[in-house]
Amino acid sequence: MPEKTNEIFPWGNSRRFNTFSAYCINKYGSRLQKLSIDAGFSCPNRDGTRGYGGCTYCINDAFNPSYCSPGKSITQQIDEGIDFHKFRYRRATKYIAYFQPYSNTYKDISELKKIYGEALSHPMISGISIGTRPDCIDDEKLDYLQQLSETYFVSVEYGVESCYNKTLEKINRGHTFETAVDAIRKTAARNIFMSAHLIFGLPGETISDMLKEAEIISQLPLNSIKLHQLQILKDSLMAEDYKNNPSAYTLFNLDEYIKFIIEFLERLKPEIIIERLSGEVPPRFLEMSSWGLIRADRVLQLIEQGMKERKTWQGRLHLK
Ligand code: SF4
Repeated sequence: MPEKTNEIFPWGNSRRFNTFSAYCINKYGSRLQKLSIDAGFSCPNRDGTRGYGGCTYCINDAFNPSYCSPGKSITQQIDEGIDFHKFRYRRATKYIAYFQPYSNTYKDISELKKIYGEALSHPMISGISIGTRPDCIDDEKLDYLQQLSETYFVSVEYGVESCYNKTLEKINRGHTFETAVDAIRKTAARNIFMSAHLIFGLPGETISDMLKEAEIISQLPLNSIKLHQLQILKDSLMAEDYKNNPSAYTLFNLDEYIKFIIEFLERLKPEIIIERLSGEVPPRFLEMSSWGLIRADRVLQLIEQGMKERKTWQGRLHLK
């Protein structure tokens, strides 16, 4: 493959991968800053509908910013979220209400309309992003989201986590990869912006299994992707499993993860937008941490720097 010389990549700029920020600036004229909202959803993998105990890695509190609480109205959480982010992200002029913890389509449609409607009626909110399980969506909900997406930015973020059913079973996800593919196809058929979430380092997966996922995911009609290294959280079921069975896990140190993500991105379809390349959990929640206090922004810079040094870019090894 010839080396790129002009440094303008298929997504129209000189970044080494197809960034969500560039997508937002091109499409909406500004970055879209997500504000996490806890609207009091629950999860079918905890209440017995799909299973009990939840996914083995899950401790939802670890992902919730301090201003987020179901005890506050959605409007109050948005106001506090804007204050919280104001100094860190001064360039943001547009905000997205991000329904993040638990499964944010797991209520009936009339309740969803009230919840999303309250967020969208806030004058500073330009859209919604909804994190959910692929088995918590149906045609009626998707039709409603399609309708909303004609006026607002609407993104559905599916927790796919792994393309392998043996892994999904081990981590007690309570759904298969085929369920995720079905939800992704139905969402794409309605032209709703959609993202998939994947975790690297889950028990039983080798680096070669994980790299293969770039090819599998590239076959799906996804708009964007969020990639996370596995972080084992204190008091999770996984922390216990790891103690008993450490050799089943591939826990990346920072250098190994950077190398792995570069190789993953090389295999990923260039059209897939990158929303995230690593996870970030406050260290007090972690069972173990070898990455120190490094922030996700810095990890992203190191990955991009590594791609420049290796003269590579997203999709360089993607096979159509
Ligand atoms: S990770 Fe999501 S789907 Fe799994 S138990 Fe936690 S809230 Fe439920």
